[in-house]
Amino acid sequence: MSFPNTWYAQTSLPRAARSELNTVETCDICIIGAGIAGLTAALELTRRGKRVVILEAHQVAWGASGRNGGVVSPGWAEGSGAIRKKLGLEQARTLFRMSVEGVDIVRHNISELALSGCAPSAGTIRVKRYDDAAGVKSHIETMRRDFGYEVNFLDTAQVRERAHTVRYFQGVEDPNALHFHPLNYCLGLAMAIEAAGGEIFEHSKMLAWRHEGSDKVVETAQGSVHCQDLVFCAGGYGGLELQKLSRAYLPIATYVVLTEHLGDSIKNVLDSAAAFSDDRRASDYYRVVEGDRLLWGGRITTRNEQNEKALAAMLKADMVAVYPQLAPVRIELAWSGLMGYSTNKMPNLGLLEPGVWACTSFGGHGLNTGSICGRVIAEAVCGENRRYELFKPYLLDWNGGPFGRVAANAIYQSLKVMDFVQERFRG
Ligand SMILES: Cc1cc2nc3c(=O)[nH]c(=O)nc-3n(C[C@H](O)[C@H](O)[C@H](O)COP(=O)(O)OP(=O)(O)OC[C@H]3O[C@@H](n4cnc5c(N)ncnc54)[C@H](O)[C@@H]3O)c2cc1C
Repeated sequence: MSFPNTWYAQTSLPRAARSELNTVETCDICIIGAGIAGLTAALELTRRGKRVVILEAHQVAWGASGRNGGVVSPGWAEGSGAIRKKLGLEQARTLFRMSVEGVDIVRHNISELALSGCAPSAGTIRVKRYDDAAGVKSHIETMRRDFGYEVNFLDTAQVRERAHTVRYFQGVEDPNALHFHPLNYCLGLAMAIEAAGGEIFEHSKMLAWRHEGSDKVVETAQGSVHCQDLVFCAGGYGGLELQKLSRAYLPIATYVVLTEHLGDSIKNVLDSAAAFSDDRRASDYYRVVEGDRLLWGGRITTRNEQNEKALAAMLKADMVAVYPQLAPVRIELAWSGLMGYSTNKMPNLGLLEPGVWACTSFGGHGLNTGSICGRVIAEAVCGENRRYELFKPYLLDWNGGPFGRVAANAIYQSLKVMDFVQERFRG
């Protein structure tokens, strides 16, 4: 399958063609999937002196990691409040700190490896679509008191100085978060892994795997890999070859569009270098790229709409609902991608059976979480610590089988109704 036609692909570093696996390889750890999770795990493992092979069904960062919104911020797809309710404050705090560590991993890799083309830019602003100064202040206080994390309050006037829309009220500014070019980041990680002795095979889908003594054997169409540990990092794109893991997540689609160059009139829309999102469950998220174009993401569906025209029309309507001044603006690119979501919205991270690991299902919050989970798996495989056990209460939740997509769609629709009711009666 060819590389998706995204803004990231159009502005990427040269993409080295890597060979397909057609030999029998032996290594310490075989990783399935070259997205941010698999690449981060591999990098962390090569740094620890391990021999690593990555098998990628398409190309490096062909999946969600090379085509997302590019926003790297703390937190998990599941909210901290819900995590706290399930696990208690201590564990929720530990998990939140790990999500911040994920942001730091990305920032650190960009600077330490001198990765080019990543264009990191600091700051996110999350806005309310209804007037709720007290609620926003209380959230900020909870983050400070319970999670030790400082973010800034923006009143409605400050939000509207930056985002020229009457749809928004108060906001939360996070100067520690960042946004960047995720495809170039992943390409940079891949080169660093290879420089450290790791191997990456493209167009090499894992078709099946089995135990052979204490080893695992992974089969592709033309070759095989013998390894001690096997790590599944297949995101929303894996299938039945993942065996029981394939029943523990649902592939959910989300969409991104890119406007034409707006010139100076971008300032009539957005006058800020921060990435914006609203705080609905089905949120819009967007940022300025190339100085005067909007890269706008939104919607979550179980139907992976591929028709570029239909996507452009759908997201344009969302944009204009917030910024009517964008009505005459042309959409120049539109694309979709799949995320793996478990029904509990937390990653499937941990030991599936001896030597077989899951590191997947990061949902729409995968850039920081895929990074920290890649590190946690590397630590686990090397016997350094057992941080992965924190995720045990979430591992391998059944996805509802053939009814899973129907269930997920029903949940999604009901969340949208809740957003509507909340805005209507609080706004
Ligand atoms: C449009 C979009 C916007 C998003 N925006 C954001 C955002 O702004 N911020 C954020 O934090 N998150 C965002 N996300 C979510 C984030 O991109 C993902 O959670 C994250 O990239 C998942 O990384 P991954 O490595 O688990 O999976 P992926 O990047 O999907 O990589 C999995 C790889 O595994 C390969 N694979 C699958 N099966 C096999 C097999 N059998 N053999 C070999 N290879 C296989 C696939 O080809 C794929 O390349 C967004 C997602 C999408 C789709």
